[in-house]
Amino acid sequence: MSMVEATVLGSEQIAGLRARFRGALLRPGEEGYDEARRVWNGAIDRHPALIARCAGADDVVEAVRFARERGLLVSVRGGGHAVAGHAVCDGGVMIDLSLMKAARVDPGTRTVRAAGGLLWSELDRATQRFGLATTGGIISHTGIAGLTLGGGLGHLMRKHGLTVDNLLAVDLVTADGRRLRVDAETEPELFWGLRGGGGNFGIATAFEYRLHPVGPIVLGGPVFWPIADAPAVLRVLRDLMPDAPDELGVTIALRLAPPTPFVPPEHHSKPVLGLVLVWAGDLAEGGRARAPRRRRGAPGAAPGGPGAGAGAGRAPARGAGARAPRCAASARRSPTSCARCRTSSSNPCSTAARRTGCTTTGSRIAFRRSRTT
Ligand SMILES: Cc1cc2nc3c(=O)[nH]c(=O)nc-3n(C[C@H](O)[C@H](O)[C@H](O)COP(=O)(O)OP(=O)(O)OC[C@H]3O[C@@H](n4cnc5c(N)ncnc54)[C@H](O)[C@@H]3O)c2cc1C
Repeated sequence: MSMVEATVLGSEQIAGLRARFRGALLRPGEEGYDEARRVWNGAIDRHPALIARCAGADDVVEAVRFARERGLLVSVRGGGHAVAGHAVCDGGVMIDLSLMKAARVDPGTRTVRAAGGLLWSELDRATQRFGLATTGGIISHTGIAGLTLGGGLGHLMRKHGLTVDNLLAVDLVTADGRRLRVDAETEPELFWGLRGGGGNFGIATAFEYRLHPVGPIVLGGPVFWPIADAPAVLRVLRDLMPDAPDELGVTIALRLAPPTPFVPPEHHSKPVLGLVLVWAGDLAEGGRARAPRRRRGAPGAAPGGPGAGAGAGRAPARGAGARAPRCAASARRSPTSCARCRTSSSNPCSTAARRTGCTTTGSRIAFRRSRTT
């Protein structure tokens, strides 16, 4: 065990802090300590000397001053999803914002003020009550804090920019325990750093974002291909996206197929290319936007393979699987035509389609109607 790991804070050392602190203070061995130090990456196993579960910005100030006076290492936890586990430290003070959940939407100015401990699902739920949203992550359980400070990529980014393009202001506690409101006018340099520079510019206790009308219904869903088809599918995507409407969000994932019900069991845990498609515009237009992609043999017209499905929302699919069976994304580059579907030579079938059978190719694609929350 290293020197820092051995740091122990006795009751008398934290008595003063405890008297001023509204949230919870947890030391090793105390109830809730092990749960609070756990983060998304299960391989991270660090032991802070103290976990300060803050109830508000004043608690954050108290915790920062406490650590500063004792020269203790500080880590900051938002949603706890940073893979490197920077939210939790050995032997120092972990300042945990995950109890700070307030969100106040102003539908008039289309803005939201959001506390630093919110997850994206929680913020989306608050803004969707007004039919509004901002660009957040594609996974609902990431924290708004770490994601925003890192830039923020999400389904809406082609239409509305990155998360930081919608960031208007940050409430910050600095390393010397001061509280600042940071925006483009008051603190331009600091604001610039916060818009994508990661952590370490201070502790963000609240964020203000610009909102946009989105939903409550969007079209969307994941589509998967066997990894062997990835080069062909990605080539088509490369050609398609420069002309695609901004409302169409596409996220690419190279991963093992998840063992979920919408993926046939024989494909579970096999390497796949996944595209998560979201149409966040007018629904009728979304339907029309699919048509040219189908004509061009785009990924949405889907080769066979692991299949695709829901997962993106709770609303029943409409139009899912409605495509006529036809050949695949990689079609245009193949010199041969498909033995089964006899697609014309100008759009012959892909190797994937030949392998899996064209009659199945369109049927599993789910361009679904999904609720945005
Ligand atoms: C499953 C998964 C899906 C993801 N999807 C996306 C995605 O769609 N788009 C995308 O852009 N990124 C995505 N990411 C990356 C994610 O945005 C980063 O890991 C981000 O840092 C997570 O933020 P957090 O608040 O959950 O994490 P934390 O681990 O709590 O924090 C991350 C970093 O930010 C610091 N920090 C946290 N809160 C504050 C605060 N209030 N003030 C100052 N510093 C703070 C922490 O100290 C740490 O260094 C994903 C990650 C995972 C694991």
